[in-house]
Amino acid sequence: MRRDTTPTLRADCSACVGLWCAALGFSRSADFAHDKTSGEECVHLEVAFTCAIHDRLRSAGYRGCTSYDCLGAGQRITAAFAAAGGADWRASAATRRGMFAALPVVAGLHELLWYLAEAGEHPEAGALRGEIAAARTRVEGLAAAHASPGDADDVAGTRADVAELLRRVSERVRAGWAGPGLRPGQ
Ligand code: SF4
Repeated sequence: MRRDTTPTLRADCSACVGLWCAALGFSRSADFAHDKTSGEECVHLEVAFTCAIHDRLRSAGYRGCTSYDCLGAGQRITAAFAAAGGADWRASAATRRGMFAALPVVAGLHELLWYLAEAGEHPEAGALRGEIAAARTRVEGLAAAHASPGDADDVAGTRADVAELLRRVSERVRAGWAGPGLRPGQ
């Protein structure tokens, strides 16, 4: 179960401009009552970027909208674009392209931040805490860059490095659970 570890990883739809509701696509299914392609605005998204059926998403057939979690990526991108000149993606094709492309990337980076925070909480992380802290700084910088207009470094290398670090933490945790082995601080 996901836990909120920092304020920036807590989704706040009221501070977002409906990015999930437009940038990402979904298919008609048990989770969604209609088809929507990536970049297509949801028929239920209102002028003020609010959801017209917010209080009855599940009963209206949009269970998927209640389970999607951008981990704060939406409001981060919204704030960054607003600070850079504008976050109204309906008003500018360039803004639309930039914000929509940023959402899956920043959401993925926020997921890494969540995993790193979780990893750092394990006593078995021990001496890896320094690497975890450094990785969080690196991922945080990438997330900030990708949330803003303009070019940003590719995330593939960072994702691979973080995956390897998390694998090492996981090994320690599993060794701890197995009985005698690593102790906190080792
Ligand atoms: S149903 Fe509401 S929450 Fe779901 S995509 Fe449409 S506007 Fe957004």
